[in-house]
Amino acid sequence: MYQTFKRFALRLLPEKWVKTIEPSIRKSLTIVYQGGNYQCPVCQQSFRKFIPISNDVGFADELCPSCGSIKRMRLQWLFLHHELNIDYNLWTVLDFSPHRALSTRLCDIVSINYISTDYETAKEDRRYDITLLPEPDQRFHLVICYHVLEHIPDDEAAMKELYRITRPGGYTILQVPFHEGATKEDPAITSPEERLAHFGQEDHVRLYGRKDFSQRLRNVGFEVKERRYAKELGEEAIEHYRLNPDEVIFVARRPQD
Ligand SMILES: [Zn+2]
Repeated sequence: MYQTFKRFALRLLPEKWVKTIEPSIRKSLTIVYQGGNYQCPVCQQSFRKFIPISNDVGFADELCPSCGSIKRMRLQWLFLHHELNIDYNLWTVLDFSPHRALSTRLCDIVSINYISTDYETAKEDRRYDITLLPEPDQRFHLVICYHVLEHIPDDEAAMKELYRITRPGGYTILQVPFHEGATKEDPAITSPEERLAHFGQEDHVRLYGRKDFSQRLRNVGFEVKERRYAKELGEEAIEHYRLNPDEVIFVARRPQD
């Protein structure tokens, strides 16, 4: 029902308008999903089920009817909450292209100085080019960089900038789409159709290999751990919060000086 509504609305209205009204429509559906089977850790609400969704290339996900979190956002929140104690640290945090559900939740934490940035739109606090960040060295205790680097032609410059602005002992947490082979990239592939065919999405400039992505982060100085955090939480949590068990969080730590 939700997907049908959204497709119908997108046919009639500009995408910007649909994005504006989508939270109200979604929340009005909350009553349909009322129940106690599952819980969203981001907004703490419980539901009979989450809203099943899929994108144009058939990637399935599940949306929280209340805050709009998707699987990777729920896992990110659980990681920030349980592993980095985000609620209790006096941290300065920079979040690239944040998902609305998460940025709203992080904004509510009074102890952190939360700054969001998006190069494409003016809706966030800043509009930074990730390869040339107008921020001082070592400013941030935590940088969140989810699903950004696969769009950036010079990802080495971006990784160097992420390292430069992260404090010694601080973290940059990242996600990118990856596969188990070598990184696929070719600057000659520039059309949306070719990028979709080779890299999985029309605006991606590469498809990372998992090991290579970690190595590239190590090359600029980070210590890197690949955390299959949903699996670490266990089957019960995967079901209760409706997580993707195969998701990997790349946890890049700047070593202490
Ligand atoms: Zn929620």
